[in-house]
Amino acid sequence: MKFDYVIVGAGPAGCIMAERLSTEKKARVLIIEKRDHIGGNLYDYYNDEGILIHKYGPHFFFFFKSEVWEYLNKFTTWHYYEHKVMANVKGQLVPFPINLDTYNTLYNTNLNQVEFEKKLTEFKFTDEPKNAEEAIINQVGQYLYETFFLQYTLKQWGKHPRELHADTVKRVPVRIDRENRYQLAKYQGLPKKGYTHMMKNMISNPLISVMLNTDYKTVISDLSYKKLIYTGPLDYFYDYRFGKLEYRSLRFEEQTHNQDEYQAHAVINYPNNYDFTRITEYKKMTGQMSPKTTIHIEFPEAYTENINDPYYPILDKINTELKEKYSQLAAQEKDVIFLGRLAEYRYYAMDDVVEAALHAYSKMGSSK
Ligand code: FAD
Ligand code: UDP
Repeated sequence: MKFDYVIVGAGPAGCIMAERLSTEKKARVLIIEKRDHIGGNLYDYYNDEGILIHKYGPHFFFFFKSEVWEYLNKFTTWHYYEHKVMANVKGQLVPFPINLDTYNTLYNTNLNQVEFEKKLTEFKFTDEPKNAEEAIINQVGQYLYETFFLQYTLKQWGKHPRELHADTVKRVPVRIDRENRYQLAKYQGLPKKGYTHMMKNMISNPLISVMLNTDYKTVISDLSYKKLIYTGPLDYFYDYRFGKLEYRSLRFEEQTHNQDEYQAHAVINYPNNYDFTRITEYKKMTGQMSPKTTIHIEFPEAYTENINDPYYPILDKINTELKEKYSQLAAQEKDVIFLGRLAEYRYYAMDDVVEAALHAYSKMGSSK
């Protein structure tokens, strides 16, 4: 069969492109997906205990741009949910990101907002932090850096914050007030019937075909198409010609407990103790009612091809330089669009990916 477009990867980047191309250009699209399901890392499903879980770790949506929100509203309604995280510091639960309450609790003080803001300015020593360590110390000082960031980042990335780009921590704010939502975006929530359901709706157009359980390299030479939209790993596309880009992976230990509640909050971070970084209780995000509850305990680990999944691009010097070499090749491709977290080797959150896909589509012009 002939296709106008072949899309590699059925994550949000791939599905949005498929939807746009089939709806607007009436193009015939084939999505090739390596895994046995669509949805990419947003994939959620009901486990054997009937609890809706996110297979690849907790995902909550936050959007600053109404353009992104309006686009997704075509495919889902929303469960009202504002993400809040607590951190376990020496057995005590404190709000994270750091806010006035976090500071007062740990320092055993009673600062008000003005005093706290003044305190924070004392920590500032640069306008241009050179790495993630400087970015954090610059905001909250050495003690809070060591309490919340140093060990967590070592666990999460297998690298010292000094080796990582300041952007690694840029999504984590510091609040001078008592605000304890993880993000302040105007639009936040979870798709009411889950991410997989939302993305199924997105690619329901009969012009879209989906081939699961298939690495695109095993079939691509037999296909007839005009353009390729690639959302898989950038280095894999080029057969690792310049060497392998590093990714960080994760292992999720799933436990279901025969009790209504496991912990008092949806997500609790463990910045210092234990090998894991956080525990998520899904019901507390999705609002599902059940006498049982399922949790994920999240263990970061090294990525090895064909053993586990490449989740996080690593923003250090070596990988940034290597990515640049691959990006130069990619920029010369006339009939391939590289899009998404893996193909652009960027630490994208979902709002970034939706925006990048809508932007990539609008850049394509009107021809089919
Ligand atoms: P992906 O979702 O990774 O999709 C790429 C797809 O390509 C995958 O399905 C993959 O199997 C497929 N593929 C790869 N290689 C091939 C191949 N050779 N052949 C065929 N198919 C291939 N963002 C938020 O905004 N909020 C959150 O709370 C949040 N939490 C996260 C938690 C975790 C643990 C992780 C890892 C990420 C989180 N993110 C979150 C980020 C979010 O997952 C990404 O922004 C999003 O998945 C990127 O979409 P994508 O389409 O670029 O890539
Ligand atoms: N981070 C940390 N301690 C925490 C939470 C985050 O050190 O309790 C650092 C860590 O390096 C992490 C980065 O901040 O990778 C970004 O955090 P975010 O919650 O945005 O991570 P993600 O959503 O990508 O897992």
